[in-house]
Amino acid sequence: MEHSFAPFATGAATAPVIARVETVILDLPTIRPHKLSVATMNGQVLMLVRVHCSDGVIGVGEGTTIGGLAYGGESPESMKTNIDTWFAPLMLGQDATRVQALMARIGQMVRDNRFAKCAVETALLDAQGKRLGLPVSELLGGRRRDRLPVAWTLASGDTARDIAEAQQMLDLRRHRVFKLKIGARPIRDDIAHVAAIKAALGDRGAVRVDVNMAWSELDAAFGMAALADVGCELVEQPVAATAALVRLARRFPVALMADESLTGPESAFELARVQGADVFAVKLEQSGGAWNALRVAAIADAAGIGLYGGTMLEGPVGTVISAHAFATFAKLDWGTELFGPLLLTEDILAQPLVYSDFQLTVPDGPGLGVTLDEDRVAFFARDGIRRTISLPAAQTAGKI
Ligand SMILES: [Mg+2]
Repeated sequence: MEHSFAPFATGAATAPVIARVETVILDLPTIRPHKLSVATMNGQVLMLVRVHCSDGVIGVGEGTTIGGLAYGGESPESMKTNIDTWFAPLMLGQDATRVQALMARIGQMVRDNRFAKCAVETALLDAQGKRLGLPVSELLGGRRRDRLPVAWTLASGDTARDIAEAQQMLDLRRHRVFKLKIGARPIRDDIAHVAAIKAALGDRGAVRVDVNMAWSELDAAFGMAALADVGCELVEQPVAATAALVRLARRFPVALMADESLTGPESAFELARVQGADVFAVKLEQSGGAWNALRVAAIADAAGIGLYGGTMLEGPVGTVISAHAFATFAKLDWGTELFGPLLLTEDILAQPLVYSDFQLTVPDGPGLGVTLDEDRVAFFARDGIRRTISLPAAQTAGKI
């Protein structure tokens, strides 16, 4: 669906304005099932938003979730509907160069919808970067690093397969930090799974776990002690409640990382105030966009909390805006997990992102520094060419 706007002279007659907002859903296959305590993903759904500006510049943003609605209140489909219905009318005709002012305008009328806001803000930043000839990282305050360490998630659910996968990643020099998704099975089975993987990898690979809130506080007390014993270096969001996180953070010699509890600057401030985590997993979509992610990072810095660049398993566009933001962080001691594009069997970029030597290279072209492969986007668009391949070309043309 598209919204159009015929530009007209405003008070600031020379400023380019938002002329059209376009959204599309893509269904992309993944290399293997991705098992979490909340869901098993057999593919990934992306919502892409294109913001067309009156000066001809087009910015791209992405909204992605983990397991549809399993993780939070938004889905790619809800983002598309809400951007088409509610965001676009607030954007059309507005000054495209005032990204923060436009996001504030949207924020006044759209209460939550952090993921959709992130997608739209990404597109606005991409457009403004292209307009100025600057990478988005420069618009966000200036990059401090060009490459980001990237952890890999082992989530096949099978110990032997996970070990083989980890060893392959080490041999390829693609990842040397491994996050294990646990919490769906009995706790002793999970501990045995983690212990076997850490024993197999030894000092070649670091092992962390993500429980995705599946444990009770009592489970977590048992589990964190056992995980520390088997050489696990970090436990991510073992429980849901902040009060329990606070108690657990004080008890064990293993780092405790908050993830689901972080939903933007306010929750970050509260978690810091009560000392509920050693590390924050900063996610752009969870934060409500790049600017809010920077605010979360500033709170962590002020509170002496470590930072980790998290992912919602975004595709390449969502991954790249995250990379631009994380490249500006003062400290990034725990690295990132920006591996989302590597889970997909298909690339939707004209030039794939560069993963090498355990790191992702942050693109340095204007805007996000990436270009969509429009043929592939058209192919994977829901109800687009792939699904309607048997229809005559005339009927599929113009759908994307
Ligand atoms: Mg997590």
